Amino acid sequence: MASSRFDLIKDRELFEKIGTALNDGHNFVLTCHVRPDGDAIGSMLALGTALSDKGKEVIFYTEDPVPGNIEFLPGTNAITHSLPAELPDNTTLCILDCGEPRRIGSKAEELIEQADVVVVLDHHLDNGSFADMEKALAYIDQDIFATGALVMLLLENMEWPINKAIATCLYSAIITDTGAFRHSNTTAAAFEMASFLVEAGADPYFIANRLYQSYPERRIHLLGLVLRTLEVFSHGKIAVLQATPQMFRVTGAKAEDTEDFVGFARCIDSVEVAIFIREVHAGHVTVSLRSKEYVNVAEIAKAFGGGGHFHAAGFTTTGTTVDVRDAILKEIERQYGELE
Ligand code: AMP
Ligand code: MN
Ligand code: MN
Repeated sequence: MASSRFDLIKDRELFEKIGTALNDGHNFVLTCHVRPDGDAIGSMLALGTALSDKGKEVIFYTEDPVPGNIEFLPGTNAITHSLPAELPDNTTLCILDCGEPRRIGSKAEELIEQADVVVVLDHHLDNGSFADMEKALAYIDQDIFATGALVMLLLENMEWPINKAIATCLYSAIITDTGAFRHSNTTAAAFEMASFLVEAGADPYFIANRLYQSYPERRIHLLGLVLRTLEVFSHGKIAVLQATPQMFRVTGAKAEDTEDFVGFARCIDSVEVAIFIREVHAGHVTVSLRSKEYVNVAEIAKAFGGGGHFHAAGFTTTGTTVDVRDAILKEIERQYGELE
C-alpha cells in the first residue's frame, strides 16, 4: 500500500486488512445510518463508485430516503430502500458513518447475518458493537472529522483513482461533518483533503449551493414556527427549540426538513448546550443536541439510549416534546450541576 501524505491512520494493520477485503471481494452491499446525512451518503457513494469502477457489483441500501439537498450527489439514483430476498454469496457488507447495527435500521440483523465480511468505517463514540464480531473489520476513530476522510485515505492507500464524482461525494462529506469548517473537529488535514478533492474535480460553489441553498419553501415556513418556541434556561446556557406534529401538519414539512435547526439555538452567544426536539408523529420524538465547549452531549444522549460525538449527538425516544425537554434538562443537571 502507498503511504498517505495525511498521517491520520492509527491502526495501519487493520486499515490494510480492510484494503485487502475490498480488493478481494466481488459482491458488495453498502449502507449507512438511518436518517442519512451528507457524510453517510457521500462516504457510501464514494466507496461504492470506486468499487464499481474496479468492476465489482455494488448494492447501495439505506433504510431512510436521501434528503433532497444531497440528492445531487452522483449516484444517489442507485440507492435502494429495500433489499433483494437474498444477498449474493460472498457478500461484503460495508457500513459507513455508523458504528452500531441498530443505527442501520430494521434490516441490520439480516444484512449482517448474510454477509461474509463486514467492514465498518466510522467516527462516532464506539460502543463496541462490532468488537467481538469475528467477521467484522471495524475501523472506528472518533478523532477523524468525517467518515468521508476515512474513505479517502482508504482509496489513496489502495491507489484507487479519485475521479470528479468520487471527489464531489467526499468533499460534501467533509463539508457536512465539519459544518463547512466551523466545528471543533476542523483540522489542517480537513482543509488539505478538501483542497486535494477540489483539485480532483469537486466544485465548492456548486456543492455549497446544493447543500445549503436548495431547500424547499416548506422548511422555512416550519422554521418560522419553530423559532417562536425558543426557550432559554440556566442563565442562557441552554437553549431549546421544539417542532410539534401540528407544525409539520400546517406547513406540510417533513422530518428531513429540520436538518440543522438546532444550529439556530446554538448560535446564541450565551449558549453552551443547544437542544432541538422534534415530534413528527405524536409520541415519537427525535432530539438533536449540540454543545460549544465543555458539555459532552454524547454522554447526555447516551443516558437516553442515543449517542454521537462530544459536541454533536442525538437520540430518539417516546413521549411529548415538553416531557423530553424536562428529562434532558434534568440529565444535564445530574451530570454537570446547574450550568453557569
Ligand atoms: P443529528 O442531531 O441528527 O444531526 O445527530 C447528531 C449526531 O448524533 C450525529 O453524529 C448522529 O450520528 C448522532 N446521533 C443522532 N441520533 C442518534 C441515535 N439515536 N443514536 C446514536 N447516535 C445518534
Ligand atoms: Mn452522519
Ligand atoms: Mn459522520
